[in-house]
Amino acid sequence: MATIYYDDDANLEHLAGKTIAVIGYGSQGHAHALNAKESGLDVVVGLRRGSSSWTEAEAQGLRVVEVADAAREGDLVMVLLPDEVQGAIYREQIAPGLEAGNALLFAHGFNVHFHQVQAPADVDVFMVAPKGPGHLVRRTYLEGGGVPCLLAVHQDPSGTATQRGLAYAKAIGGTRGGVLVTTFEEETETDLFGEQAVLCGGVTALMEAGFETLVEAGYQPEIAYFECVHEMKLIVDLIYEGGFEKMRHSISNTAEYGDYVTGPRMVTDETREEMRAILRDIQTGSFAREFLLEHQVGQPRLRSQRRATSESLVADVGAKLRKMMPFIAQGKKA
Ligand code: NAD
Ligand code: MG
Repeated sequence: MATIYYDDDANLEHLAGKTIAVIGYGSQGHAHALNAKESGLDVVVGLRRGSSSWTEAEAQGLRVVEVADAAREGDLVMVLLPDEVQGAIYREQIAPGLEAGNALLFAHGFNVHFHQVQAPADVDVFMVAPKGPGHLVRRTYLEGGGVPCLLAVHQDPSGTATQRGLAYAKAIGGTRGGVLVTTFEEETETDLFGEQAVLCGGVTALMEAGFETLVEAGYQPEIAYFECVHEMKLIVDLIYEGGFEKMRHSISNTAEYGDYVTGPRMVTDETREEMRAILRDIQTGSFAREFLLEHQVGQPRLRSQRRATSESLVADVGAKLRKMMPFIAQGKKA
């Protein structure tokens, strides 16, 4: 089982007098920068000149400079850019600003694990990865709580990476939720596997196949959408709150019985074998290579898939049904 650290295990003194450079001001960047600043740390945000986030970060009381300047100023440099651009920006704008004793931080292990970022040997490299989106990292911090984080140390020439990592996690609220220790390898491979096989790829493919099976059999698309797509949220919310037990307790006995007898017919030995193959593609770096090449050639696959998705029946039906439920948009978090 994982080692877990809490507030009392972390000391902000390890970052006293240090400048924290947060590179990027997107989902994670805004939350890390604001939380760390409000925890009393000296924070500078690094962005491209002309970026729309520049004025936004300044309006929220942060000091903003260009990426290369932030990297130079920062004793700790947290890289919160999209994964596919981190390698190039690291080499061109961040690496020149790193000095012996600095620390290079990530919120996901992709670029270090797959060798896109190779830091100098005298710089600490570690990861503080919140297990939730940035808006939740920010909201829970303001409420006095925090999203649990993963901590992993890739290289530790200073001998203080764990202490500095825990202090950083404390500054963004993570130790209030708890910090689990992992490795870059474990975080990267499990994160990619989870999003591909289950959370994003697996779930959407399952919903779409269910929807198409009903439509093909002559049922109305609106009804199929409610049953196979829309209602996923009700089920997932119950699992989020109380695990499979709470979900199965809340649904009808009919649904629970169907769950037990039909689930194993959906995830067959063949499906499990495919899951292992997906995991192997991640472990060998084959997926990482494909994804990085996709970015280098201008993202043709991402673009055509996005277009195909937006033109699909399931998208049309969903848009139509959401118009009947204006309360969904009203309840949405900014
Ligand atoms: P994001 O897309 O929301 O934000 C990226 C930021 O980088 C934006 O401010 C953007 O303006 C800036 N940017 C993009 N290209 C740039 C360039 N060429 N030069 C300078 N700035 C540039 O990204 P995110 O979701 O916050 O992800 C950041 C990191 O956090 C990633 O490593 C990701 O894997 C990790 N992470 C994300 C989440 C999440 O839920 N979003 C959760 C945990 C970890
Ligand atoms: Mg520096």
